[in-house]
Amino acid sequence: MSKSSEKPHELTVAVAAGKGGTGKTLVATSLALALHELHPGKVQLLDCDVEEPNASILLQPEITSAEPVHVLVPQVDLEACIYCGKCAQACQFSAIAVIRQAVLTFPELCAGCGACSYVCPQNAIAEVQRAVGELSRGHSAEGIAFVQGRLTVGDQRATPVTKAVKKQIAEDMIAILDAPPGTACPMQETIEDSDYCLLVTEPTPFGLANLQDSVETCRRMEIPCGVIVNRAGAGDTGVEEYCAAEGLPLLLSIPQERRIAEAYSRGEALVRSFPEWAKPLQQVYEEIDQLVVA
Ligand code: SF4
Ligand code: SF4
Repeated sequence: MSKSSEKPHELTVAVAAGKGGTGKTLVATSLALALHELHPGKVQLLDCDVEEPNASILLQPEITSAEPVHVLVPQVDLEACIYCGKCAQACQFSAIAVIRQAVLTFPELCAGCGACSYVCPQNAIAEVQRAVGELSRGHSAEGIAFVQGRLTVGDQRATPVTKAVKKQIAEDMIAILDAPPGTACPMQETIEDSDYCLLVTEPTPFGLANLQDSVETCRRMEIPCGVIVNRAGAGDTGVEEYCAAEGLPLLLSIPQERRIAEAYSRGEALVRSFPEWAKPLQQVYEEIDQLVVA
């Protein structure tokens, strides 16, 4: 949500990474924990990585409510159908097919756009609800508001679930979004309308290539972005050189340390295990705040 012009201290910050396992969720959860120290009761963490949500592993929130996320899919009245094929021609997602005297629907491919029912000359298509995922809400022990979307296994359309999660963003709270890895549609859906995108990467040639893709995506979407290097010291200086050449803020480096890796593997949030990381993360947010306002 672009809230910066009204309330520059209450930003929506997406945390993204070019690939999974880079430390994106480690940063997102600890950023939320660090900001909660300064703004108690005013921080939300929203897990938009709906195909593999795992922020709850690190944050360990108590889930207090859950509800299904629905999309509308077509249901064909074969008594009324004349098998003209217009519905199949109108569908951009190959989610409905007319084969001789049969109409086949593929709900897992359906985007719920309603085009098939709109073009049907017989009014033979009704739109019915279909659950594609689940939205959960709760709070961490500290009081961080937590929201998680989870796509139903086997379903391919993450967008409705991501949208449902983002609808929970409260205008008067700092919102940290844990984005899906990569730069495909689910990531773009997540970072859209964010005030800032934090890109987490590793100091390796592979990390640099992924970072370049992510930066290109943010720039195309006109979302300001900055970089956090995780496992700093474990690779080369390519990411630093790229950031300098591109004028990208390098906001934080988290070193390659055995104790951090061990805490992460035990499912512990960085700031809970090592409280000294709260201050640097608070400074990252302050810097973002200044960059967004500037
Ligand atoms: S558009 Fe309507 S009438 Fe034509 S095939 Fe599809 S459901 Fe049947
Ligand atoms: S609602 Fe849209 S996506 Fe779904 S079957 Fe109809 S035309 Fe295709």
